[in-house]
Amino acid sequence: MLSPRRTIFNLAAICPIRMAPDEILQAIVVFDHWESCQKQPSIGSFFFWLSSDGFGDMTAASSTEPTRHGSARICRGCWDQMHMPIPIGGPLALPFRAFGITRSKMNPDICTICERSFQYVKKQRQITVDATILFADIRGFTDLSERIEAVQLSEIVSLFQDRCAQAIWAHDGIVNKQMGDGLMAIFNFPIVRKDHAGAAILAAQEIQQNCAVALNGLALEALPGRTLGVGVGIHSGEVQIGEFSSFRSDFTAIGGVVNQAARLESQAAAGEILISAETAAKAPDLTGGSETRVLTLKGIEQPVRAQVLAKP
Ligand SMILES: [Zn+2]
Repeated sequence: MLSPRRTIFNLAAICPIRMAPDEILQAIVVFDHWESCQKQPSIGSFFFWLSSDGFGDMTAASSTEPTRHGSARICRGCWDQMHMPIPIGGPLALPFRAFGITRSKMNPDICTICERSFQYVKKQRQITVDATILFADIRGFTDLSERIEAVQLSEIVSLFQDRCAQAIWAHDGIVNKQMGDGLMAIFNFPIVRKDHAGAAILAAQEIQQNCAVALNGLALEALPGRTLGVGVGIHSGEVQIGEFSSFRSDFTAIGGVVNQAARLESQAAAGEILISAETAAKAPDLTGGSETRVLTLKGIEQPVRAQVLAKP
């Protein structure tokens, strides 16, 4: 039987993700400690050892890891949904990485188990969740794409996607779908946030602030005299979350709430955040005193009231 020390070196050799020497060293120390504590190590005792080390604190940010790549040391999604501590940061994550369990691209504080194994996590094909859905896209992008070079266009798209993701992750949302010049985010699944409406509004405000500076700086170079802006739509309510495709394993959200959030975003001008009355009611301190607009949305019979937050 291989010793834990040898196993770690083997993991370092086969692991597709490059490990820093100090990470390998930490892992050896941890496994040596583990070996001395456990006579017959198993995955169960591994979790016990991990939990006895205070995994409750491990969802908190670690000062040694940059925010950009996630800061939680255990998956916040698996913890909130199953109360299962899955290490995604630090030396304890190394054996998991060897099995392909890493930080998710939807949000680096959740893991690839909650991203791709919805049915394992929830033991159902789909569930109903009270959530907030956010859509954002670059206004006038189609027109712009006909006027500038492909390289500049891709620079604009990656800058937009990057700035939006940072804002969404900072408020515990996930970037569920990326569609070129647009994206869809979910708040309150799999990371549970009771104040999901407020979290989405704060993320939207950060998207507007962060994108305005970055996009306009780029656009001036690409197309003099023209500015770029982002439109955001937000709606809250019950959505169906699950795997709805036979050839993709990542989960998504569907339902009327998702459709209405997308319709609101399509009506938002550059720099605007359109918030449904349902979302606004859940976060009155963030929407009080804002302009009310009555909108006719495609596919929705009744006119819809929305609060408008404009870029400061
Ligand atoms: Zn997870």
